Amino acid sequence: MNITMQKKITVFGWLLLVLVCSFSCRQTELSNDPNHKPYVVVLSMDGFRWDYPEKVKTPNLDHIEQIGVRAKASIPCFPSKTFPNHYSIATGLYPENHGLVFNRFYAPDLDKFYSISNRESVSDSSFYFGEPIWVTAEKQGIKSASYFWVGSEALHDNVLPTYNYAYNGSVPFEQRLNGVIEWLQLPEDDRPHLIMWYIQEPDGVGHYAGPNHPETYQMIEYLDSLVGVFQHKIAELDISNQINVIFTSDHGMSEIAKDRTIYLENYIKKEWIEYIDGANPVYSIEAKDEYYDTLYSSLSNIKNVHVWKKENVPERLHFSESQRIKDFLVVADSSWSVLVSSRKKAYSGGAHGYDNINKDMHAIFYAYGPAFRKAYSHKAINNIDLYPLICEILDLEPAKVDGKLEHTLPLLIKKNKN
Ligand code: AMP
Ligand code: ZN
Ligand code: ZN
Repeated sequence: MNITMQKKITVFGWLLLVLVCSFSCRQTELSNDPNHKPYVVVLSMDGFRWDYPEKVKTPNLDHIEQIGVRAKASIPCFPSKTFPNHYSIATGLYPENHGLVFNRFYAPDLDKFYSISNRESVSDSSFYFGEPIWVTAEKQGIKSASYFWVGSEALHDNVLPTYNYAYNGSVPFEQRLNGVIEWLQLPEDDRPHLIMWYIQEPDGVGHYAGPNHPETYQMIEYLDSLVGVFQHKIAELDISNQINVIFTSDHGMSEIAKDRTIYLENYIKKEWIEYIDGANPVYSIEAKDEYYDTLYSSLSNIKNVHVWKKENVPERLHFSESQRIKDFLVVADSSWSVLVSSRKKAYSGGAHGYDNINKDMHAIFYAYGPAFRKAYSHKAINNIDLYPLICEILDLEPAKVDGKLEHTLPLLIKKNKN
């Protein structure tokens, strides 16, 4: 190699170095500049089963898969019910650790009952453990907003999202969507960088009509069109290239039938029971001391139902550590119903709450935005792994949680560490 050639290579090397340096400095400047700080918007559509997009035309979700990421599924925590799972997404904790073990339960630690339909209990902070993501954000100077996310009506460490609403299921979905867009149009100093919002469908129609019914499919198509409208409105914002959007859900739905219904009262007596928490198809039952053995042996004789003593619940379910979990866990086999009394009529349609190993319980996960890879498909993730993912995108120091960033990190574009 002659000297001129060597010089040329050295000059080229220097030029490359300067270019790389200025690019990474620019990246660092951008992430520190308030005008380029990232946003995360999470929408949960309740009961949106992982495979609905395979059954129904969902062009807008398909488009997100092209411009962003799709995980095969988001696996719920057990029990695959609404409140336990929305709060697991928010806190990164298993229900045994965040305290919302069912939608309805007796809390012996407080000597109080919790119910999703009781406003007083829903906004009572003593039921909730862990640190929801909006509290992590607010404590670290990031404004947050919740449009009906479970748990956001209760104070945690005296903190609420900067913006939130008391739950009202009759607020039209379009109104919620526009409310979220309005938050993103606030002046920078007032604008939330974390927004969590919620839609109670297709859970409602999934229960009533079943997961394989045309009415449910129609709802999926409508929700997909809302996804499209939302994405379009986001794209029109000045800050659109800073916004990361996640579309997910709390659980799926399984087809049930009237003739696959079990009535507990045909096997056990009311007098044996101290407390019974839960709802079809999953219950947690506290025995009166003297009937502990009788209750267990009677429950064990029921066909198409699985019964575990609290201390024998399989590790993978992460459902034994809380005082709020009672003596026996009763879970119907897939597509079976368990009702307490025959005064409650058997019904067909859909149910959830089953073992989370059951694929029918798995939910969707799609995301796009500057932090996410493009046209990337990933294996199923656990919903508790969302909390660390959001912390990573927003540069927040996470609280100690059960979820692990390493499970969801592959969804993100590698950060420049300079
Ligand atoms: P489930 O199917 O029983 O697990 O729960 C779904 C129901 O939870 C939906 O019908 C919603 O109306 C209700 N829900 C969701 N979020 C809230 C909330 N923040 N407060 C009260 N109810 C809620
Ligand atoms: Zn739900
Ligand atoms: Zn439901």
